[in-house]
Amino acid sequence: MDFAVLADAFDRMESTKKRLELTQYLVELFEKTPQKVISKIVYLLQGKLRPDFEGVELGVAEKLAVRAISKSSGIPTGKIEDEYKRGGDLGHAASVILEQKTQTTFLVEDITVERVYETLFKIAKLEGARSQDMKVKYISSLLNDANPLEASFILKILLGTLRLGIAENTVMDALAIAFSGNKDNRRILEHAYNVSSDLGRVAETVSEKGLEGVERFGVVLFNPVRPMLADRVKSQKESVERLGGIFAAEYKLDGERVQIHIRGEKVVLYSRSLEDISSYYPDIIERIPKAVQAENAILEAEAVAVNENTGEFLPFQELMHRRRKYKIEKAVTQYPITVNFFDILFCNGKSCLELSYEERRKKLEKTVKEDEYARYIPMTIVKDESDVEEFLENSINAGSEGLMLKMTDKPYQAGSRGSYWLKLKREYQNELGDSLDLVVIGGFFGKGRRTGSYGTLLLATYDEDADLFTSICKVGTGFSDEDLDQLYQILQPKVTIKKNPRIESEMEADVWFEPELVIEVVASEITLSPIHKAAMDKVRKGAGLALRFPKFTGKIRTEKMADDASTNEEVITLYRGQKKVAHDKSLV
Ligand code: AMP
Repeated sequence: MDFAVLADAFDRMESTKKRLELTQYLVELFEKTPQKVISKIVYLLQGKLRPDFEGVELGVAEKLAVRAISKSSGIPTGKIEDEYKRGGDLGHAASVILEQKTQTTFLVEDITVERVYETLFKIAKLEGARSQDMKVKYISSLLNDANPLEASFILKILLGTLRLGIAENTVMDALAIAFSGNKDNRRILEHAYNVSSDLGRVAETVSEKGLEGVERFGVVLFNPVRPMLADRVKSQKESVERLGGIFAAEYKLDGERVQIHIRGEKVVLYSRSLEDISSYYPDIIERIPKAVQAENAILEAEAVAVNENTGEFLPFQELMHRRRKYKIEKAVTQYPITVNFFDILFCNGKSCLELSYEERRKKLEKTVKEDEYARYIPMTIVKDESDVEEFLENSINAGSEGLMLKMTDKPYQAGSRGSYWLKLKREYQNELGDSLDLVVIGGFFGKGRRTGSYGTLLLATYDEDADLFTSICKVGTGFSDEDLDQLYQILQPKVTIKKNPRIESEMEADVWFEPELVIEVVASEITLSPIHKAAMDKVRKGAGLALRFPKFTGKIRTEKMADDASTNEEVITLYRGQKKVAHDKSLV
């Protein structure tokens, strides 16, 4: 399939944000796509090469892309960087540069989707000393044969800046229309996606075998299931109102969610965002087979750092010491954990998703034999506010974050944030009543003791409608020296030459980062702001929202993706909530 067809579709999609139009463009594209290419196209649409859990990362740095453009155009790198700074993104700059190309190539090979995909795949797999040079070579060979529009999209995919604004649901709508003529069939595709986490495979199946093929999708070992998520409640009262009757309350432990796939001695661990995180937990890989009494299973647990002497749960932050490539064995003994099981999704060749919570919990307790390392998450059945209150207190005293409240008669809803699970967090020591998870978008160099680190960070919320990161505050308090060191290590590789186009900020930072890292902050108040861009015009025309006296809580939320950060909608709700409290107080 000619890459020009795809570039042309990308071009049209980039120029609209309307979901109906995007769906229409996708339907037209899918109808033109041969069966064997469709999965590749679905991955590329999402800026990926394979589903997340396979860990195929493109990771090409801007500097390297600049070198490749220079090699293929004969134009010096400095000039390319100038063009890039002038406007647009590097993909756009490349198209401008290639228009003025001084070198001509004689042997132009056709660019097909297959060729672009294979080359990108080779680039992603390259490792070792000479890999940078090889990457430049591969990229420039594609650019040599590409027209400016094609080149611009090849670079955007490579740099991870392709932003078509296409949600997974829109892709599924389009697949349903293209291959069954009815958008309502998205439900069937959605189920297949939720159990397989692989939209490319869903697309390939529906295009080859129709809906019947997709209906046969089930849970498969070593292929992660999209996790079930919980809605937030603010009080015991609200949880009882929403769940009614009798329900289960579990500790909400502050660790990392792990989906454990096991068959005999083979164990693979997936994170909440479905990445393979097995290498950080060699202890789970080694010890869990002894605790699991089934031929095969998929289990969900929270891995939590513990104090070995007292058994007390320690904050999530402690687990971060395990995020390293080398000397992981040392980290395992220095930062011990327990694995706290809370669900079972598959057992002895059969899916457990359809079973009720009660049945799953029973099965879980039959399948996992508890020892000092493998535990069940503490659970009790509650019936009213005072039961919830009491268990919440116990859980906080044990070092947990709050409670997860779960309906006992409901199945496991893969991939959805439904109302069957609710989370009730402890009241934080801040007047807002909740912490916020914010994306780090910029940094300011530290002074004095903080020289050589970013002393202050610029943070953003996620604007779901526009798919942008909007500035909300600067934060410079709450950081220990160790935090500053760690943040510097994480953030330095994320520095960009130019502000990422998804960042909306009037405030200028010393350096801009790829909007990827999420950290937790508390604050005393949310105020209207003339400078910050969060919820711009939503509460008052010409004003955004900002956090007053924000403070870092010590939690770097590496398990969250940037678009899992607090949204502008949530901030508006908090803002309105605090106004209401002030209003109620003034009435007393
Ligand atoms: P949040 O990240 O605040 O949306 O909370 C959801 C997360 O809480 C899950 O992804 C798990 O990592 C974690 N968690 C802790 N305890 C439990 C539990 N008992 N059941 C489910 N999730 C839990």
